[in-house]
Parts: sequence; structure tokens; C-alpha cells
Amino acid sequence: MAIDILVAGRLPPNVLPQLEDRFRLHTLPRDDDEADAMLQEVGGSIRGLLTNAAQGAPEALLAALPNLEIISSSGVGTDALNVEIAEGRGIRVETTPGVLTDDVADGAIALMLATTRRLMQAERNVRAGRWLKDLPLGNRMTGKRLGILGLGKIGQALARRAVAFDMPIAYHQRNRNPEVPYTYHDSVVSLAEASDFLVVIVPGGPATENMVDAQVLDALGPEGILINVGRGSTVDQCELIRALQQGRIRAAGLDVLADEPHVPEALLELDNVVLTPHYASGTIETRLAMGQRVADNLLEYFGAE
Ligand code: NDP
Repeated sequence: MAIDILVAGRLPPNVLPQLEDRFRLHTLPRDDDEADAMLQEVGGSIRGLLTNAAQGAPEALLAALPNLEIISSSGVGTDALNVEIAEGRGIRVETTPGVLTDDVADGAIALMLATTRRLMQAERNVRAGRWLKDLPLGNRMTGKRLGILGLGKIGQALARRAVAFDMPIAYHQRNRNPEVPYTYHDSVVSLAEASDFLVVIVPGGPATENMVDAQVLDALGPEGILINVGRGSTVDQCELIRALQQGRIRAAGLDVLADEPHVPEALLELDNVVLTPHYASGTIETRLAMGQRVADNLLEYFGAE
């Protein structure tokens, strides 16, 4: 008997072609009424859910899939997957760890250089025929102090890159890592005080919500730059906008926002902000590797059944 799979999120292009001969695939409509109608019709037969870290597995969707056995998600973030509910029901949750680590670390370096060297302003000047007119100088990155909030797989890949920029490296997370040569701080405020660049790369979710608040931003100070490639929820976005407007920090490079894809007008108006659309893992190589993991996770789970 065919196995029914629900496709509820955008996926890399190599996923569905590998699965359509093996499974009966149902794509969740974007329109809420159409989605409800579809779930009423096929929800009970769905055994696998294909999604991504941003679109996740909302509670209401899980409730509409009483016979779900596996969630295969593209990405490593689990904050939108309702893991506790899923695991409580015995649903297996699979993500795509490892394959995107290097690109996200590269993305953080790109945002660090773009903010401190004012690359976007410089580029806009050239395109507007203004060359050097009214273009302030940027600041050096080499030798500046890097603070990493979350020295996990991506944080460590970032640290390895920062060594080549002669940056002294410090970090904060819940547990000190005895295997790395970097300086540990037992609070985010203390890390921010000791940093010229503070890079956020902890998971999202309630445990890290608004971890970067006004106090942390003030500890980073007027010469400090905040980079967020983790999750928007980790930074208090209203406080960040205020700090940028008031020059209490120098700049920010943000790949993730609190309410994606909504971008606050106040951020768009600021010259000292570089924004990318949750794009740090967005290379062809990584997306195809993520897609392969998503497909393999499903194929391996159902095996020869
Ligand atoms: P890892 O699990 O390898 O590392 C996460 C690190 O965060 C750990 O070292 C952990 O240390 C620390 N951490 C977790 N919870 C807390 C907490 N409450 N307080 C302080 N530190 C904490 O994950 P990755 O490095 O692979 O990925 C990190 C995150 O990056 C993902 O969860 C995802 O949200 C985001 N991401 C963003 C992408 C993008 O495109 N922008 C792409 C991929 C990932 P400890 O347990 O000691 O606290």
C-alpha cells in the first residue's frame, strides 16, 4: 500500500523527484481553507511530514495528523518543530545536521566584513555614480575581539575562520568546552563587554528568547557590532533598533529576524544595518546536501516497507 507523505514546507529541488515514485505526496495548500479541507480528507492517512526549519511543524498541523510517524525537516533548527509534542507521541524528528555548518560560518564572516567595512554603502555609492562622495571609512576587522554566543558546530567553524583574522576569541554557552583554547564567559553581558563583534549562533526557542537585551547591547557598546545568524527570537529586536538608532552600538548584520519575513521599517531606514533573508546556508552545494539528507531520512525510515 502506498505511504502518504505531507509536504508542508519549501524544500531543496532534489527532494521531491527522489520521492515521488516511492511515496504518495500531498502538498499542503498555502490557503488556510484549502489546507483545512485537504487535511480533513487525507490527514488521517499521513505517515510522514516533509518540512523545513522555518515553516516547521505547527501544533495545529500535528494535531491534524493523528498517524504521523516521522518529521523530516530541512535545516538544523528545531525551535519550530514542536519536538516535545512530537516525541511525546512517538514521532521521530529528523533534521540535516553537519552539512550547513561551513556555509553558515562563512555567512557570519560575510556579515562581519560587510558591516565593519561598510560594503553595502560603498556598493550603493558606486552604483549611484557617487564613487567616494559622503562615504565614511569603515573599520578594520583583523585583530578585533570576537565573542561567540553559542560555540556549537557553527560557532566552532566560525572561530576557526576568525583565527585567520588574528581575532582573540571568547564565547558563552551553558557549558564550558574544555577542548577549545578560547576564553569562556559565564554570562552574555560579560562576553559582550569583552567583544568588538558579538555573533549570535545559539538555537532559538524559549531558553534563548531575548537573551541579547538592552543590557547586553550596552555592554557591547558604541564601537560594537552585533551579528545574528542564529534565530531572530534570541535578540530583543525593539531594543536592538533603539540601540542602533541611538548609536549605542555601531552596527548590526542580521540574517534572521523576530517575525520573518516581516522586516520592520525602522531597520530598513538604518544605514548601519546589513540584512540578509535567512540566507546564511543558502548555497547550491549546501541546499542540495540538505535535500539529500531530507530525502534519505524518509527513505531510510520507511526502508523496504
Ligand atoms: P549546535 O547544537 O552544534 O550548537 C548550539 C550551541 O548553542 C551549543 O554549543 C550550546 O551549548 C549553545 N546553547 C544552546 N542553548 C543555549 C542556551 N540556552 N544558552 C546558551 N547557549 C546555548 O548547533 P549548530 O551550531 O549546528 O546551530 C546553531 C543554531 O544555528 C541552530 O539551532 C539554528 O537555530 C541556527 N542556524 C541558522 C541558520 C541560518 O541559515 N541562519 C542555518 C543553520 C542553523 P550549551 O549546550 O553548552 O549551552
